[in-house]
Amino acid sequence: MGFDSAAMAQSAADVRQRIARAAARSGRRAADVTLVAISKTFPAAAIRAAWEAGIRHFGENRVQEWESKRGEVAHLDATWHLVGHLQTNKARRAAGLFDSVDSVDSLDLAHRLDSALREDPHSGQRRLRVLLEIRLAPEERKSGVEPSELEALARGVLLLPRLELAGLMCIPPPAGNPEEMRPFFRRLRELRDTLRASLGVPLPALSMGMSHDFEVAIEEGATEVRLGTALFGSRS
Ligand SMILES: *Cc1c(COP(=O)(O)O)cnc(C)c1O
Repeated sequence: MGFDSAAMAQSAADVRQRIARAAARSGRRAADVTLVAISKTFPAAAIRAAWEAGIRHFGENRVQEWESKRGEVAHLDATWHLVGHLQTNKARRAAGLFDSVDSVDSLDLAHRLDSALREDPHSGQRRLRVLLEIRLAPEERKSGVEPSELEALARGVLLLPRLELAGLMCIPPPAGNPEEMRPFFRRLRELRDTLRASLGVPLPALSMGMSHDFEVAIEEGATEVRLGTALFGSRS
């Protein structure tokens, strides 16, 4: 399946303009917001077209799907994120296949990622970037750590030498109106600010906002937005 590079260039340009406007509304620069293209369900050709349109961060939500696509695109100079829930029995594979795991939600998982890197002779001194996924609406999802358990998890992760704790991530329950998402995004930023103060580490990354609500997320301080539909069209 081919992917129309002119259409991709256009949607990337549209999205960048919307990011820049949202950043400006909150007194920030477009360069402070990283666009992570979520390529799940789309073929490697779509990733290549997005790369040609200047996108350098990509996210997949399943280890196996990425294993089947990466042969065609892993040589591209890009940062590969895992954004979906990671089962502990796939941690070892994921540690070798991604540059960033944005969905760490347990100390067990963090330990497994850390040991996978320590035990892999080919990993050199590589550290895996991780974000902690927070569950902000308990009834909606099974993944994510409860806010009340966040500090303990973060303290544990900071002790693991091969993980680099960069910040927080959330996937709040979808809402009809993007404005309804604002309290969740604000809460994630406040949790990050509190954690940063109590741990004394920078925690620069806030991964929040998807196609439907990324502008609100940017207004609330997102440094990474995860966009699938807005770039690639709807998933079948
Ligand atoms: C699919 C997915 C996205 C992108 O969703 P869109 O609404 O298509 O932008 C973002 N984050 C995660 C974790 C996803 O699974």
